[in-house]
Amino acid sequence: MNLIWNYISFLIHCINFLVVAVSEKNNTFNSNHEGQKLFKVYMNSEKDVQALKRIEEKCQDCIIQWTDYFAQNTKVILHVKEDSVNEVRDDLLKHNLTHEMLKDSYLDVVKKERNPLRSPQHDEFGYNYAKHNGFGAIRSLLIGLTNKYKRISRLEIVECTIEIRPIYAVHISNDWSNTKPIIMIECGIHAREWASVEACIYFISVLLKQKTENIKRIMDQYDFVILPLLNPDGYVYSMSKSRFWRKNRHCDKQYEMCDLNCVGIDLNRNFDINFCEDQSPQCAATYCGSKPFSEKETQAVRNILKRLQKRLFAFFDIHSYGAMWMFPYAKSMEIPRNYEEMKRLSEIAVEAIKKVNGSEYRVGPAARVVYTASGSSMDYAFDVINVKYAFAIELREANINPLGFIMHEEEIQPLLEETWTGLEACILAMNPYK
Ligand SMILES: [Zn+2]
Repeated sequence: MNLIWNYISFLIHCINFLVVAVSEKNNTFNSNHEGQKLFKVYMNSEKDVQALKRIEEKCQDCIIQWTDYFAQNTKVILHVKEDSVNEVRDDLLKHNLTHEMLKDSYLDVVKKERNPLRSPQHDEFGYNYAKHNGFGAIRSLLIGLTNKYKRISRLEIVECTIEIRPIYAVHISNDWSNTKPIIMIECGIHAREWASVEACIYFISVLLKQKTENIKRIMDQYDFVILPLLNPDGYVYSMSKSRFWRKNRHCDKQYEMCDLNCVGIDLNRNFDINFCEDQSPQCAATYCGSKPFSEKETQAVRNILKRLQKRLFAFFDIHSYGAMWMFPYAKSMEIPRNYEEMKRLSEIAVEAIKKVNGSEYRVGPAARVVYTASGSSMDYAFDVINVKYAFAIELREANINPLGFIMHEEEIQPLLEETWTGLEACILAMNPYK
């Protein structure tokens, strides 16, 4: 039944998807990317941050992507066009910015991230838990798992994107009593954060298989709604065209004109909460869009949040990277209600994570831990939907040769296992009745 229903809703919502899927075949990293370079730039002071902002303004056309918007004590990775490498290097030197150009080219780095060998050990329904998977494999796993565990799960297509890919929500309940508090988890809002998508998919698998007493306890107490890949268009673009792409693929122009940087909306700035106070320009990676909820992806989250509002208890938004377990607010330095409780839960989570592989996470309100950001899903869930607990988690970087979003495939499994351990500890420490 699940399978048939999925197929029908797929046809209803995403009738043109197959056309898009065929055209994707030609989109792979290729020799066009030859000669492009990556620079690591270290933001040691506020002066460095301002200097990099000046370079950004001057050098709109020579840098393909910036891996982060800038904050002190972070590392920014620049993906630089072949004919602009010298210009960028001169600018960095002129501003005294600590930096290094990676020996490997951009093309080498993205090719090495994925191991061509496929071990059958972690395979399920064509998806491999120890690899970065394409959209087709993710789709096949979600359909396969929810069909296999149909007594306790349901796959919903919440919306279809402008490139006509389905946005899935996996509903999980031990009893479908419709009375238990709901925990919602959102992943993959930012295209290049592949580890986030992998985390949600791992959580779904763990919850459905219920191999430990702790998981059974959690499932007796809560229902789950998990959106494993909120931004599938951006994800496919990041996998095939531009590894560090962040936004969705919103484009007002004709489709042939859309393969440029001035495309897309930062979905995590598009929620109706202090909308667009940051005022990033349209071509920036953090552009908020023309109005709140202008995008199918954010509409999907809003609609689910509103539909489940009465029972919605906790909201988790998973990102990569930064090793931070954060809670509201992102929009301002204001201290949220439940501050002590969310801090306590976050500390329990990061303690549990540390015990697994020694990974260290920072804890605190997002605006204080990183920077202020308006229009985020976490703040919307917390302030407008009024969930008791809201968290935004930035997963850690790779342990060996850390390079931001780049996660070599052998490092995926340990990251997923420790992240689940943290999430499980956090959920077990919550009190839904207080
Ligand atoms: Zn993110």
